[in-house]
Amino acid sequence: MPTTTPALSVPSAGAPFEAVLLERRDLRDDDVLIDIAYAGICHSDIHTVRDEWGAAHYPIVTGHEIAGTVAAVGDGVTKFKVGDRVGVGCLVDSCGECEPCKDGHEQFCTKPAVGTYNSRGYDGEWTAGGYSQQVVVTERMVLRVPDGIGLDEAAPLLCAGITTYSPLKRWGAGPGKKVAVVGVGGLGHMGVKIAAAMGADVTTLSRSMDKADDAAALGARQHVATSDADAMKAARGTFDLILNTVSADLDMEAYLRLLKPFGALVNVGLPTNPYSVRPFNLIGGNKVLTGSQIGGIPETQEMLDFCAEHGLGATIETLDASDTKTIDAAYDKVVAGGVRYRYVIDTSTITPPPPPPTS
Ligand code: NAP
Ligand code: ZN
Repeated sequence: MPTTTPALSVPSAGAPFEAVLLERRDLRDDDVLIDIAYAGICHSDIHTVRDEWGAAHYPIVTGHEIAGTVAAVGDGVTKFKVGDRVGVGCLVDSCGECEPCKDGHEQFCTKPAVGTYNSRGYDGEWTAGGYSQQVVVTERMVLRVPDGIGLDEAAPLLCAGITTYSPLKRWGAGPGKKVAVVGVGGLGHMGVKIAAAMGADVTTLSRSMDKADDAAALGARQHVATSDADAMKAARGTFDLILNTVSADLDMEAYLRLLKPFGALVNVGLPTNPYSVRPFNLIGGNKVLTGSQIGGIPETQEMLDFCAEHGLGATIETLDASDTKTIDAAYDKVVAGGVRYRYVIDTSTITPPPPPPTS
């Protein structure tokens, strides 16, 4: 029998959330049924439901920061059993056979990979994400949440955690390295915590000084207001690595100037407009301008284990979704840069309207 689960859905671009009943597929042999406890709100959810990237397919149930417990498993499942604490991130399937999949970089599956929402599964069905009480996912894409991390503070690690961990590791954040994180939001605050835990000297670059005290508590040693021209000038040539998490357009050249020679500016923020960079600003100092997309399944597990080892979880505000307007308001607050620092939905509060009476 397919499972029916309460969910939060957006019926069209710009429309508010509504609580609905959603059908999840019958368990296949390799499937895990997860009782979702918490789902984080990522800015990508907002870009998607507002159709800022195009290609939105309505109705959409967003949510790719999922944490919960295993409720049932298919006959062939070997990695998980009922009651295990688990997470699901941005991917729910990949071919498992192409070179990127074999290398553990499922996000670059050539088939391609199936996203947790707004994506067509290999069975042709549209996927629906974590703003719901249950989800069915093939076991290969399910992560184990270590015991030391609460499910609420673990949920955002499944996207914000891995999206910052992967480039910080790849580009060498660690002792002796000066790392700047641009934007102290959902991704940014995890970037600060993880880079500090890796041993780097971390600076936060934020629009104002409002988040300076919070940034220090997250692990930053310096905080610079990007609106302060003198402070930005003083920061020129000082960073080995800059991680840009900003969801809006930025002047790339202004940030390239802050790098030391051979430094790297890694973009993970996803506004839609092109960057404009004159070659002189890359060539002078042999600078690297690059990007990074989430992370594969093995690296996501590595990140969760790293966070448990270092006592890291997301800094969260928990949302009650019984009034769906709360979620609409939360989206506006994220866009205004007002969340401290990740909203998670307590999915047990999702309350669909009762079915109409039958005569
Ligand atoms: P978020 O919580 O809204 O954080 C973004 C931060 O950017 C804000 O807190 C704010 O920090 C800063 N900001 C916002 N508007 C700005 C503006 N107009 N000018 C300058 N700074 C601004 O968003 P998020 O969930 O961290 O996601 C950030 C971006 O990463 C989104 O575009 C999202 O789609 C993308 N993303 C990418 C990947 C990937 O695989 N690459 C994965 C997940 C998300 P301050 O207040 O400190 O300035
Ligand atoms: Zn995300």
